[in-house]
Amino acid sequence: MISSFKTDRPSRLRTPVVYAWMCVGIAIVFLSSCQRKDVNSVSDSTLRFQIIGDWGTDSPEQRAVATRLNAQAEADGSQFTLSVGDHFYPNGVSSATDSRWQSSFLDVYAGYVTRRDWFAILGNHDYYGNAQAQIDYAARSSIWRMPARYYSFTKALDDREVLFVCLDTNPFAAEFAGGKSPDVTKQDGPRQLRWADSVLTASRATWKIVLGHHPIYSAGFHGDTPDLKRLLLPILKKHKVTAYLCGHEHDLQHIEQEGIHFVVSGAGGQTRLGGDNRPVAFQEKQKAGYAFMTLSTDTLRCKFYDAGGNVLHRFTQVRK
Ligand SMILES: [Zn+2]
Repeated sequence: MISSFKTDRPSRLRTPVVYAWMCVGIAIVFLSSCQRKDVNSVSDSTLRFQIIGDWGTDSPEQRAVATRLNAQAEADGSQFTLSVGDHFYPNGVSSATDSRWQSSFLDVYAGYVTRRDWFAILGNHDYYGNAQAQIDYAARSSIWRMPARYYSFTKALDDREVLFVCLDTNPFAAEFAGGKSPDVTKQDGPRQLRWADSVLTASRATWKIVLGHHPIYSAGFHGDTPDLKRLLLPILKKHKVTAYLCGHEHDLQHIEQEGIHFVVSGAGGQTRLGGDNRPVAFQEKQKAGYAFMTLSTDTLRCKFYDAGGNVLHRFTQVRK
């Protein structure tokens, strides 16, 4: 499996010393990717991954979901996890060496899924702590993938590829409006959207999938995110994105609207009632769980699981 990251980082002056370290780094990355290929390699022509968010509660629900996730992911040959934010409650982590990396992440999910990549994005609770620490942790972890606050990666699917655009939606969230968080205020939302538009424009991927912590549409406690509806949704529609994956709401939802599947998978560690009871394809407010997606070149399949291993909802999308 090949993952190639793209971020929006500016180029820097490079001295011979920097080049030397880059060569060492490339060699290490190459060797580690060779090693990881053993555990991540697949021989068939589907891409299989789970989507889980809002998990770092240290609760019985988190552990129950984790146990079930490991069993199902192994049985179905899952290749990686998409982690859609709010990884540590209530206030994120303080550093890349915070003890909660072990106690709330590695210990809880120990097993099949922690031998494979976790592609992660930041939630609001991650910003309540040290958001940069989650990027720093990626540099020292063999499975935690967060090269920047927003980035993209691709996965091979037969002779084609799938594009994942991983966003930081916190600059568009109402709770941070008015400059409540200096770290969020420093983020350049318009620049990020221009970057997302350019990545989607350049891509010839068979499937284009976008991730952000905050929902665009939601029938849950928080409801829609107006700035994402206004600013991000037109980009998704323009590029015929198949699915937008998010968390933030502590429930499971499937909303199909304007030709896009909106998947809310924010019940990894707790659930929450509330919402406007609008009619949606699926919503589960009382059972913790996660979503699982299988992609072939022609078909996207998604299932929602609870911690008991029951399939609560499923949908299929044939490639248009
Ligand atoms: Zn959240």
